[in-house]
Amino acid sequence: MGRLSTLFGPERVAVIGASESEGSVGRAITENLLESYEGEVLAVNPNADEVLGLPCRDGIGEVDSPGTVDVAVVVVPPQIAVDAIRQAGEVGIGNVVVITAGFGETGSDGAARERELREVAEEYDLNLVGPNSLGVMSTPKGLNATFGNEMANEGDISFMSQSGAFVTAVLDWAAERDVGFKDIVSLGNKAILDEGDFVEEWGEDPETDVILGYLEDIEDGGEFIRTSREVTQDTPIVVVKSGRTDAGASAAASHTGAMAGSERAYEAGLEQAGTLRVESVQELFDYAQILSGQPLPDGEEIAIVTNAGGPGVMTTDAVGDSDLSLAEFSDDTFETLQGTMPEAANIYNPVDIIGDAPAERFESALETVLADENVSMAVVVACPTAVLSFEELAEVVVEKQRESGLPVATTLMGGKSVGAGQEILAQAGIPQYFDPARAVGSLDALTEYRNISEREFQEPDTFDVDRERAREILQSATRRDTNRLGVEAMELLDAYGIPTPQGAVVDSPGEAEAIAEDIGDNVVMKIVSPDILHKSDIGGVEVGVPPEEVRDTYEDLVVRARNYQSDATILGVQVQEMVDLEAGTETILGMNRDPQFGPLLLFGLGGIFVEVLEDTTVRVAPVSEPEASAMLDDIESAPLLQGARGREPVDRDALVETVQRLSQLVTDFPAIVELDINPLVATPDGVKAVDLRLTLDQEEL
Ligand code: ADP
Ligand code: MG
Repeated sequence: MGRLSTLFGPERVAVIGASESEGSVGRAITENLLESYEGEVLAVNPNADEVLGLPCRDGIGEVDSPGTVDVAVVVVPPQIAVDAIRQAGEVGIGNVVVITAGFGETGSDGAARERELREVAEEYDLNLVGPNSLGVMSTPKGLNATFGNEMANEGDISFMSQSGAFVTAVLDWAAERDVGFKDIVSLGNKAILDEGDFVEEWGEDPETDVILGYLEDIEDGGEFIRTSREVTQDTPIVVVKSGRTDAGASAAASHTGAMAGSERAYEAGLEQAGTLRVESVQELFDYAQILSGQPLPDGEEIAIVTNAGGPGVMTTDAVGDSDLSLAEFSDDTFETLQGTMPEAANIYNPVDIIGDAPAERFESALETVLADENVSMAVVVACPTAVLSFEELAEVVVEKQRESGLPVATTLMGGKSVGAGQEILAQAGIPQYFDPARAVGSLDALTEYRNISEREFQEPDTFDVDRERAREILQSATRRDTNRLGVEAMELLDAYGIPTPQGAVVDSPGEAEAIAEDIGDNVVMKIVSPDILHKSDIGGVEVGVPPEEVRDTYEDLVVRARNYQSDATILGVQVQEMVDLEAGTETILGMNRDPQFGPLLLFGLGGIFVEVLEDTTVRVAPVSEPEASAMLDDIESAPLLQGARGREPVDRDALVETVQRLSQLVTDFPAIVELDINPLVATPDGVKAVDLRLTLDQEEL
């Protein structure tokens, strides 16, 4: 069992701030604990002798053998809460649930208090929930240490929520639907324990089959990905993520900064973590139910059995919208259906056994299709008729699902006539919906989770690079007292094995000529200035300069830069070998640092129209080889890289390796806040990084 097993399964719980006063949180918690908890409840409050029949002590130190109290629930006012927690730590209590509000959520005084709380928790190594939490619940011991008004039913779903109010709403909702829980935690301000800790705990908990999260943010994205992707091999995690983090974090100067916002980081991060992300509360519980009740399918092929034409078509449409596909039956199946179904029936998938079908006909059809090797799952769609008992149908579905071992969902379309059937299905863990789209969506999610659980996570490759040289180049910016670097830092890429065209930055026309002579062909010349972000916008890039024009072009570029900004710092001019753009594709490879997830790699179609086209994909770094490779296929212009219209495909391996090498660079140097290689020209013979721009956080160096 995990580190938090005592938090959810304590023998003794003390309420610090227990109270009898009507309407108080201290009273609600004490009452809830007394209601169903199997263990011992202790009351602490210096202003009372007795609370709800419990003897009351002045301080936690004065209860009998305080060291054996497993959990302290803290409900006292914020001014004295930190002291109360310190006392709990001093007597050796390891788990603290802080209900008290008035911390980080309430301005600067509260933030200071929360810092203090964190220090105390770290000093005593406390497993601390909250502050500003509704509390925790765990059904095996009947523990209700919350101030909600309802206790959860027993079940195998464990649920964490960043909103306490949402916990109460969900409990109320779940009570009506036979949805049961193992543990529930209201995360509050997450001063110590956060979503990653609970994912880790429930991943190790044999009684938790599905983990649900309602999250507004994620404290440490990298950690969450690492923990979750292991847990999701065995335990599905379904997450609703609402709200957005401070967009200011991505208020950035470069292309990547503007395009790789926080929301994209969450999207990529939650995907890399192996979670199923849902948009609504309904989906959250639809997925939870089917994941906890049904076996995983071994393929994507679904059979539909229905007594109604229209709903059968709706179900087929829903399959079309999903990643599932309609199963193609074997000849045996067709033969059996032909022999057992009435003439008017449609024996092709969706199987329409027509309106006069009694439960027995469903039984026969279902048995036949589930026995077909091409079928991985089934959905039963039925409308009420005079000859069909939903109760009997439910029993048939339960039996056939069990016999086949394949996942099944039902769509019994009706109101009150569904009741008894619904109960039978729920008992057997078969999800039942009015809407066929939800049934198909749930089976789709089940299939998606099957794919996740079979993912093999590869560690990112580590390349042999010149880290010291890279550090020197970054430090050169510090000496120049700037946090912006451009093509003058191209060697940074060389140090990490990312190919660049031959070239150099020089500060005189004569030197420019010498470099061009070395290159021995027409060259590209670019102005180099930390004040000029988009060089071509101001005429700062000249492509195809012949040797005899290099001197004049140098002067022209400087004049144009001065015209644009008279006091611009001009470092010189870059003279660069020409790259054959005709044979290649201009891509962009960049990085932007997300406050929660850290380095976010961006890959897409590049060049000067990158903002217009916005065809990019992101991943949280570090990325493994398969992840880097998947980025290439993710973008809409992927066919360009694969050689559309008779073009030769680009050197895919070189491109994938470059993504991995950049991933290593930005992981090695947290000081790089953002970085753009645009364009990274991909050709059939390799890649070339033609342009570079990056922003540094000097203090991280
Ligand atoms: P910026 O993005 O600041 O305008 P770049 O260095 O990216 O400057 O140059 C702008 C465009 O010029 C590139 O997108 C590319 O089309 C072209 N270009 C730049 N360098 C080269 C090169 N070495 N060979 C061929 N084309 C180049
Ligand atoms: Mg560029």
